[in-house]
Amino acid sequence: MYEYIIKGGHLFQKGVQDLAVEGGKIAAIGPSLRGTAGKTIDAAGKTIFPGFVDVHTHTDKSLTSGHVPNTSGTLHEAIENMDRYFETADEEDILRRGIEMVEMSIRQGVSGIRTHITIQPSTGMRIWNASLELKKLFQEMITLQLVVFPGAVKRLEKGDHVYERTEKILKTGADGLGGCPTLSEDHAVFTDTLFDLAKYYVVPLDLHVDESDDPDASALEYLAEKTIKEGMEGRVTAGHCTSLSAVPAKKASEIIKKVKDAGLNIVTLPACNLYLMGRGDTVNRRRGTTRIREFLDAGVNISLASDNIRDPFRPYGNGDLLEEALLAAQIFQAGTREAFLETLPMITGNPALTMGLDDYGLREGASADLVIIDTPDPYSAVIDQGFKSVVMLKGKVVIQRELTLTSYISPAAMGKK
Ligand SMILES: [Zn+2]
Repeated sequence: MYEYIIKGGHLFQKGVQDLAVEGGKIAAIGPSLRGTAGKTIDAAGKTIFPGFVDVHTHTDKSLTSGHVPNTSGTLHEAIENMDRYFETADEEDILRRGIEMVEMSIRQGVSGIRTHITIQPSTGMRIWNASLELKKLFQEMITLQLVVFPGAVKRLEKGDHVYERTEKILKTGADGLGGCPTLSEDHAVFTDTLFDLAKYYVVPLDLHVDESDDPDASALEYLAEKTIKEGMEGRVTAGHCTSLSAVPAKKASEIIKKVKDAGLNIVTLPACNLYLMGRGDTVNRRRGTTRIREFLDAGVNISLASDNIRDPFRPYGNGDLLEEALLAAQIFQAGTREAFLETLPMITGNPALTMGLDDYGLREGASADLVIIDTPDPYSAVIDQGFKSVVMLKGKVVIQRELTLTSYISPAAMGKK
């Protein structure tokens, strides 16, 4: 006997099938599953996705927009004001906002989150300790990966407070190492230091790269070359890469080829960069994202993520990756159904691959992390921004709700008296 049988849903990339859950795992998938279950969920006319994966967020910064201003709307002011806020923010504040943000994401069907946890001169271990607590609180529900993130510092050198704290955390265990080479004094030196640490402590790298409109920014190209040189193919991720859109097409395609050769994972943050970038443009204000279409065409593992949720970097957002998918489709001008559907691996399998989630997906033996959407197929789930009626995490239903329509006149009733 199974714990759950979910009947007749349209499984993402598998078509209409039943799905059974037992012991936190997907026990069986098939067209007409036999056997009994403790509970049956009727998913006829609905779509089932594996849990969405938000591969680039900042739980420590989220939900601060009410008290951390950004009057210019620039990346620079956001960093400055956020750093000032962190000087006095206590562990309780960091944890409380983190809980609220993770719960918000779970309501949107998210089952995996990677978050970059800021280390800066004045914060000591406060933000990291609160984030460890956050991870512990949600460990029975979702995968929460903590990337130690030496923030927007000019240098990263032995003896510096930020370096020492970063190394201390790596010694005790982190899920990855981050950083912003583009914002440092010398991006190559900064990147080299991060590689030394990542190799020594055997952690993947996940960097904020070329988050600007500058056509001469070259941290991404260097990162790809360095990844090959150090033999870290497949273990390095580059987020943002917005300046690539300002680089002439020929040069951009050369860089994209290097990215592909290096096995870099790319993460684009459509909503956040649409809001933050192009601030210097007085005409033809640009979209601000990287070259999504070109990365897809080159076969690079590219994901969409939310980045900042209601903080000085972006005062909006609710962790809904279907919203990011719809936005991305418009930004890379997906004009066909096939192109439109390319957004969906970018919020499911691609980020799961980036995070190394081995038990992910709609397949027997995978973790039963599912979201059921009240639309008949994956295409309409995105274009309708479908209602998420069930969220199951590790085999347990954590959200179940019904969409009730009142005063509804069905198309079938129209014309009848
Ligand atoms: Zn970020």
